[in-house]
Amino acid sequence: MRVLSGMRATGKLHLGHLVGALRTWVELQKEHDTFYFVADWHALTTHYDDTSKLKQNTLEVARGFLACGIDPDKSVVFVQSGVKEHAELFLIFSMLAPVGRLERIPTYKEIKTELNYKDLSSVGFLSYPVLQAADILIYRAAGVPVGEDQVYHIEFTREIARRFNYYFGEVFPEPEPLLSPVPKLLGTDGRKMSKSYGNVIELDTPKDEVESKILRMVTDPARKRRTDPGDPEKCPVWSYHKAFTSSEEEREWVVEGCTKAKIGCVDCKKLLLKNMSPVLDEIRDRYASLSDEYVMDVVIEGCRKAREEAEKTMELVRKAVNLLF
Ligand code: SF4
Repeated sequence: MRVLSGMRATGKLHLGHLVGALRTWVELQKEHDTFYFVADWHALTTHYDDTSKLKQNTLEVARGFLACGIDPDKSVVFVQSGVKEHAELFLIFSMLAPVGRLERIPTYKEIKTELNYKDLSSVGFLSYPVLQAADILIYRAAGVPVGEDQVYHIEFTREIARRFNYYFGEVFPEPEPLLSPVPKLLGTDGRKMSKSYGNVIELDTPKDEVESKILRMVTDPARKRRTDPGDPEKCPVWSYHKAFTSSEEEREWVVEGCTKAKIGCVDCKKLLLKNMSPVLDEIRDRYASLSDEYVMDVVIEGCRKAREEAEKTMELVRKAVNLLF
């Protein structure tokens, strides 16, 4: 199966990216024809007013992919702006995308509300699901690993594929969202994980800083004293245990210890650190060993491979639409 997914170039990757997506991507590359890209054009939809860090952020995201185990021998790792065909297909799809439909896409309103200090009344922001549809369909991908919040976008992509096929003949398959149950990490302050809240742990954070962030992490507010019982489901630390503590015995120790006030939150966090450390050490070491030159070489080669595939699709598209060139 051809699988495609991407991440916006908005800076260094953090634990939320690892747990929410990259671990799944690494698994998928073992069995499928995987394409993973850094979406730098997508970053412009909300960060159009300051692009001074765009190049650096793009390389950081690609470096994060590789540090987490995306293997350029198994996956095509590329950058969106390195494959101009995405923009050409976006232009054609934009003729098929009803404005009212785009305005009703839930994330459109959500992001506008979240970033209400920014002017997001641009055509580019409104039509970003159309660019996403082009990103996916240009590789005629059958599967797209996404989180729950992105399922709607895949449905929109399917609609665009159907519409195109209806007017111009069968060119595009309808992709399916690949949903895998992944634990959703909360920020270290218990709020939604977001760089703007400063509550994330970036993948290359030094070990001692990770420790201090975890040890200072908020817990179930009901556990004011060690003798107060708590509820792991109300504690952000538990969301990290779900991601990093695989032993059933240890998980039971946390649940039992927390609900019956047999353990303190520091004990609980120390266990988490014991389980997180080997994973993060490996990523941090790999991260440090990847030079800008190496990452650049990987994405140049990835763009070359991606362009080859994209060009095959565009030939079919141009022919189907009866374009002269
Ligand atoms: S014992 Fe663990 S799960 Fe329970 S409140 Fe403390 S840190 Fe959270």
